[in-house]
Parts: sequence; C-alpha cells; structure tokens
Amino acid sequence: MTNLTHMTIRAALDGLKKKEFTASELVDAHIAASEAARHLNCYITETFDLARDAAKESDARYAKGEALPLDGIPIAMKDLFCTEGVQTTAASKILKGFIPPYESTVSGNMKRDGLISLGKANLDEFAMGSSNTTSAYGHVLNPWKREGDDRDLVPGGSSGGSAAAVAARIAMGATGTDTGGSIRQPAAFCGITGIKPTYGRCSRFGIVAFASSLDQAGPFARTVEDCALLLESMAGYDPKDSTSVNLPVPRYADAIGGSVKGLKVGVPKEYRVEGTNPEILALWDKGAQMLKDAGAEIVEVSLPYTKYALQTYYVIAPAECSSNLARYDGVRFGQRAEGDNLIDTYEKTRAEGFGQEVKRRILIGTYVLSAGYYDAYYNQARRVRKLIWQDFMNAYQQCDVLLTPTAPTPAFAIGENQQDPVTMYLNDVFTIPASMAGVPGLSLPVGLSGDGLPLGLQLLGRPFEEETVFKVAHALEQAAHFTALPQTLQRKAA
Ligand code: GLN
Repeated sequence: MTNLTHMTIRAALDGLKKKEFTASELVDAHIAASEAARHLNCYITETFDLARDAAKESDARYAKGEALPLDGIPIAMKDLFCTEGVQTTAASKILKGFIPPYESTVSGNMKRDGLISLGKANLDEFAMGSSNTTSAYGHVLNPWKREGDDRDLVPGGSSGGSAAAVAARIAMGATGTDTGGSIRQPAAFCGITGIKPTYGRCSRFGIVAFASSLDQAGPFARTVEDCALLLESMAGYDPKDSTSVNLPVPRYADAIGGSVKGLKVGVPKEYRVEGTNPEILALWDKGAQMLKDAGAEIVEVSLPYTKYALQTYYVIAPAECSSNLARYDGVRFGQRAEGDNLIDTYEKTRAEGFGQEVKRRILIGTYVLSAGYYDAYYNQARRVRKLIWQDFMNAYQQCDVLLTPTAPTPAFAIGENQQDPVTMYLNDVFTIPASMAGVPGLSLPVGLSGDGLPLGLQLLGRPFEEETVFKVAHALEQAAHFTALPQTLQRKAA
C-alpha cells in the first residue's frame, strides 16, 4: 500500500477520488506519524479528535460524490491563526488559554475547501524570530541533522512548527505567516517549499498581528504544485481586512508546467552579501544555469537600496509591533497578573506574559515612535521603504522574476547564532527586502550542503503575479529534482 504520509497533496486527492484510501485512513496515518514525532514539538495544541471527526465528514462527501476541492487533506495550522473554539496562543504565555470565539478568514477558507487541521503549530512568540527558539511552549526541532553530527538543529522561524511538520511528513501542508521571512526561511531550513504571496492577497482578519503593514499568510508544502493548491484556497478578498485586495484569485495550479522560454530571470548583484555560505552562492549560480537551460534568459539587475532593508525593517516592524501588542493588558485577553491598581496590573501582566525578544521589540518600537525620535527613525524608515519598493519596480522593468538565495546559511544548531540579536536578524537579509516591498516570494529546496542539509533558493515576482513565480519555481523544481529526506526519516525507512 502507498505510504500515505509521503504523498503529495495532488496525489492524495487523486487517491481519495479513486477510493484507493479514505480520508479517515489518510488522517489517521498522519496522526500516528505526529504521535511518533512528538519530540519535534511541532504542535502547541493537537486537535486530533476534531480531525478524526472532520475526516468522517469528508469520507461521507466522497461517498456521495460531493467532495470539496481539497477534501480530506491533513494540514498543520500555525498557532497565529485564530481558530474558533480551539486555543490560540501565538506561542506566548500571555495568550495561554485564549479560545477565540471566531475563525480567521484564511483558516475558514481552508475549512470551506475540506482541509483538515491536525493542530496548532508552534512558532516564535508572536512570530518574532528566525529559529523557533522564542516560543513559550519550547523549541521546535528540525527533522534534519548534519551528517555525522547528532546536535539538534533549529527549523528556522517564525513558522518553525509548520515547516518541521511538513518536512517530517506528519502533515501534508501547513499555513505560515511571513513578516520578514517567516515562511521562506523555515522552508529553506527544512527542505520544503513555501510562498509568501503579495501583501493583500490573503486576508489578515483573525491572524494575531505582529507588524500589520508586513504580515502575510501563505502555505508550506513539499511541492510547488501543492503550494499552488493551498494558496488558491487561502487567498481572496475579504471585506473584513481593509488591506486585502479585491482581485479575482487565479487558478494557481494551472500555471504549473508552463514553459519559461523567453522569461527573464533577474539576478541582483547586491545580493552577494558578505558572510553568505559559499555553497549557497554556488547553488545560486547553479539555479540560474538550470533556468537558463529550461529556456529562460538570465539578466543582471541592481537593487541598490535593498542593503538598507534589514535596518529599516527593524525600525518599522518593532514600531508596529509595539502598537499592536499594546492590547495585551490582562483585561481582555488571556493571562492576567493581579496588581495593586490598574497600572500595576498592566505592568505585572506584561512583565510576566511576554518573553525577552518580544519585550526587546516593544521597547525598540516605543522608542522609534516617541515624540523626539519619530521623524529621525520611523518616518525616515518609511521613506527608505519607498525607495526599496522603487528598486523592485525598476528591476521588474528588466525581468519577470528575481532569483536569490533564501537564507545566508543552512539550518544552525540550537544555541548557535544567539550571541547577540543582530546575528539572528541577519538570517533574513535576503527575505526582508521583498516583505518591505510587498512583492511575492517563494522558497524551494534546490540542493544539499556538504554536510547534508537542505539549501533553498528564492524567487520573487511582480505584485500579484504569483502565477509567474509558480511557473518558474516549477521549472526549477523539475531541474533540481530534490528528493532527499531528513535523516530521521531515512533511518526509519532503512
Ligand atoms: N525573523 C524576522 C523577525 O524576527 C521575521 C519574522 C517573521 O517573518 N514573522 O522579525
């Protein structure tokens, strides 16, 4: 019998339709795999019973010939999406026990299409981090290990639980959110595919806010086509989010398999940043050659202002976070530490409820928004952000997509890169520019490092041209033919 946990979503949908197996069997296989992989700590809250019930409903629909578009596919839901009746923590102590009375639009869209959530996936607290080590519910482990080295590695962040779950074959797909790289960098670290669509493509309604002008939801899966199927379900206009864009959602999966002949792929010269792992730079050249061989034209482009993106991000994102997180005051949500008076209650609640990284961001954000510094930092950062956006628009006059590395290094060990916050922030040097400009970005695994870790490349597209990104990503996926499995799964298979 087919190994149900190693299939693609596309193949599983075909199998379900042909009645080769049932949704209950598919969901049960993933629950069993999840139970066997609990040491990875992918889920903050497991919802296996709800998943089993949903699978039965899905089976009934298949039996009647009334299956929904993605009926019966088990996924992991980042614990940043509010899910009606199911605890939503944002990986923070301050939201422990918070049970939303409503569903986020994206998770609701996915339910509408028959997707089944196995649980709420672990993440960095309030999605702030690049290693899933800031969660109040413990680290997530990457299912990959370096060859000959038994140290546990980080899955990347902030959507680390989602990425690790898909890589470990305990979920067929997952949701993530990406503010500065939180879908693309964990996808690269875990050897899977993930896309952050254009800002405004997916509704932010019901997603716990980090930095509202940057946050975007998107999917993880093990193939480009599976990501296309999931994004089609997640995306769409929502009157409940004023920044969601009223454009029809294309049938993204139809872009898969299209020819890249004549398409122009830009390679930004400024992205050869110092400190990037030489294996990743070599892979970048190889990726460009693969696309050239597939018929695309490679052009060198310049994005001169993107070198300021990281610094600008660490003004804008903390500014927005300090304002968004002001609502956690012990009065309306989750945890409350009783004080002598109202101010004391606020202070105690926030001191106990937030972790160190979240506090650091709130302090930076409050500082850059304070009366004396607003112009010098926040307004200046907004001006630079416009220039970064302009850089991308200029580049897209010369090319259809951009090809860059996703992250400057492969996955690192827990505890590495933690000497100072800036080393950790550098992880997102390649992903943050696209977040600042709001353009879509996809990461896919293209090769392995010398010590056996997955390495990803990133494709960036014009606003709302995810189809072109999917088309080029699929061509690269075909050429790269990445089939390696995390060592933990190889051992099991042997
Ligand atoms: N690592 C970045 C940060 O900590 C990005 C996080 C994200 O995209 N949510 O801000």
